[in-house]
Amino acid sequence: MDIAGSLIGLRDEALARIAQAPDLESLDAVRVAYLGKKGALTAVLRGLKDLPAEERPAVGRVSNEVRDAVEAALAERRAVLERDLLARRIRAEAVDVTLPGRRRPLGRQHIIHQIVDEIVDVFVGLGYRIAEGPEVELDYYNFTALNHPPEHPARAATDTFYVKDQSGGATGAGLESEVLLRTHTSPVQVRVMEKQQPPIYVLAPGKVFRRDVADPSHLPQFTQIEGLVVDEGITFGDLKGTLEHFVREIFGPDRRVRLRPHFFPFTEPSAEVDVSCAMCGGDGCRSCGGEGWLEVLGCGMVDPNVFRYVGIDSERYTGFAFGMGAERIAALKHGIPDLRLLIEGDMRFLRQF
Ligand SMILES: [Zn+2]
Repeated sequence: MDIAGSLIGLRDEALARIAQAPDLESLDAVRVAYLGKKGALTAVLRGLKDLPAEERPAVGRVSNEVRDAVEAALAERRAVLERDLLARRIRAEAVDVTLPGRRRPLGRQHIIHQIVDEIVDVFVGLGYRIAEGPEVELDYYNFTALNHPPEHPARAATDTFYVKDQSGGATGAGLESEVLLRTHTSPVQVRVMEKQQPPIYVLAPGKVFRRDVADPSHLPQFTQIEGLVVDEGITFGDLKGTLEHFVREIFGPDRRVRLRPHFFPFTEPSAEVDVSCAMCGGDGCRSCGGEGWLEVLGCGMVDPNVFRYVGIDSERYTGFAFGMGAERIAALKHGIPDLRLLIEGDMRFLRQF
């Protein structure tokens, strides 16, 4: 058998298959078919040892040339195929930088937070400081130190969320250490006055909780903003002037303010504050129930009993406090007919503000 001839035949066959290999996988299959352990060329090379000694050098040289030629062709073809692959990937992953970008939808501040910020701005502008307190509160701060007698109806388990079940009754021993969800942000007043001597000018916004069923004018959780001023010579006139300024800033310069006598355990005297109806200007219409006025907040002069709990000299200092629901202010300002709209998270509603 002419081994050199069959080597040349194998070489030509291998070179033809290498040239036609369409991708790297087929190319590797060709490599295995000729140069692998069981490859055709390998078998021939293995047969060299059986040749007569005088033929070996010549055949050995041819076989080396053939193997070098096949290996070189493989390397060259691999380089071409790899370049093609890279070019295809670059084309496939190309980004058209001239395309206009996709606009990401911008979030917006919730209407309740907007109104809280507006109100905070008004009072910060008057020199008030923001104060915060815990949402899970002790009875002592929520009721006792705010002059609520033990039998006060707000303390009933039907009105207030207690952290522990009140099976022993609302007026049992250890009442002041009961843990509850605060029903107003007024306990922040007590916490501030415990730590700080007058002059005190603070605003306490925050979440409060009451055992109410959600309806158009009540929510079981809402945002209260409580204000407290304690200083020498503070009068009811200061309170009224402050609230008139607040109402004009939030509702507009044409709105009027009316105070009606009321009762709160921690202020004396106390008042509820009405703002003139924007629809009728005070004449009475459907949106104000014919009253001409809409209730916006409660207020009063700090009861000396409250000062006694926190060790402030009520002979030297006087003060006022007021509290409002941010949701109610938002509803009055924007003519929202149902407070539940504010907490339902319907974007069609919320996008309007
Ligand atoms: Zn009206």
